Amino acid sequence: MTILYRTPRALLAAGIALSLSASVPTGAQETAAKRPNVIVIVTDDQGYADVGFNGSKDIATPGIDRIAKEGVRFTRAYVTFPVCGPSRAALLTGRHNARFGFDRNPNADPADPRGGLPRNEEMMSEMLKRGGYATMAIGKWHMGTHPTLRPRVRGFDEFYGFLEGGHRYFPEEVTMEDISDSKKPYDWYYTKLVDNGARVGFKQYLTDEFSDRAVDFVRRKAKGNAPFFLYLAYNAPHAPLQATEKYLSRFAHVPDKNRRTYLAMISAVDDGVGRVLAELDAQGVAKDTVVVFLSDNGGVVNRETGEPPAASNWPLRGGKSQLFEGGVRVPMAVRWPRRIAGGRDYTRPVSAMDVFATLAAGANIQPRADRPLDGVNLVPYLDGATKGDPQPVLFWRKFDQRQRAVIAGDLKYIDNGNGKLLFNLRRDTSETANIAAVNAAAVEKLDGVWSVWNAQMAKQPAFPPLGTWPKQGGGAGGAKQPTKNKRAGGGN
Ligand code: CA
Repeated sequence: MTILYRTPRALLAAGIALSLSASVPTGAQETAAKRPNVIVIVTDDQGYADVGFNGSKDIATPGIDRIAKEGVRFTRAYVTFPVCGPSRAALLTGRHNARFGFDRNPNADPADPRGGLPRNEEMMSEMLKRGGYATMAIGKWHMGTHPTLRPRVRGFDEFYGFLEGGHRYFPEEVTMEDISDSKKPYDWYYTKLVDNGARVGFKQYLTDEFSDRAVDFVRRKAKGNAPFFLYLAYNAPHAPLQATEKYLSRFAHVPDKNRRTYLAMISAVDDGVGRVLAELDAQGVAKDTVVVFLSDNGGVVNRETGEPPAASNWPLRGGKSQLFEGGVRVPMAVRWPRRIAGGRDYTRPVSAMDVFATLAAGANIQPRADRPLDGVNLVPYLDGATKGDPQPVLFWRKFDQRQRAVIAGDLKYIDNGNGKLLFNLRRDTSETANIAAVNAAAVEKLDGVWSVWNAQMAKQPAFPPLGTWPKQGGGAGGAKQPTKNKRAGGGN
């Protein structure tokens, strides 16, 4: 099926007259003699304002900021879903998660082959592997725990990390061998890590552990014959809020404990990113390495605990799990010295889905014809060779909550289940003034655009939701995600 919704022409064909740019993506035209190395760095629940390059006053992130300073900072980068799993599924396939029913976080059951990214989707790792890349995933997987869905059968030569959506940060908290030992949801926060085929403990703060492995991979692969791809998926600063004194001491001036710990967690990531970039320099491969940095969704600011939020998405409204900008607009930067002129901002809307298409073009690898991408190659837009918006229309659906959203040009439409909202993002970045009542025609059009798009998506989610496995055995705790450091030991 042709992806009709992508172009303004198709919108017009659907009887919808929105003033959008008339350009069409040009596809893979890169003729780079040398295929670049690729590092995609994902953070977990990092707020839009909780990075130096977006102007944070609370935290300096010199490591991460290098990517923006020497590359391009994206001020309007969107993920396709405001929580981890679906957002990462779209990043890793270049296709909207709703297209293949990845509409919620997976249930984590290692006996359920449905519970993750469908086998018939091509992952970024599989695409680059097809092009001869040496590949490794480090950190949080979250694309399925069934043996047919794990990293090393999804295009990664190597994997060091954990299979589910979160993990404790201190090595002494490991009490379980494997995810299959879980007695209730979220027990998997206490598992050993997966080191390729083996289950292993770890010896230091988890974020430092992942950074060490990332540096090691770059060091091992930089001089190889094949280009390399590293997917460095930190679980920081996702809950539980845990940091070591080394990082906490940098934020002694921050009075709120949650905020202090959260910033310390980001600071640990930042040290790691800085070390990875330094290793690229040391190996002499920085110019020919694409480094992508983004958060998988907005920071958590809507906890119902009455405590101050740990994250800041300022000036955006809302946060994780919401379709307001704070949930879906994320910090993002890309550096590729050989090909992309750095030191600037790109202010048009882009999608995390564009990363796949950009890398495929950069590596001169054709995406699979039977899996047309929703993302586009951003390089011609960054060069100015292609005018207009890379993503003239962006869509969201929260299937379980019956929520929908569309961004088209300056307008953002949200149906949050309780009512219809319309904002002009150019004038009202913070989504403070609902102009739906005085723009009923625009609301109707955007809802129609969404329905045309939605008709092309999966009819329902492909797997059961998080919390349905394992069945509750009557133990204490229940299926509530751990947000606090419940066990003794480990500091903070
Ligand atoms: Ca997340």
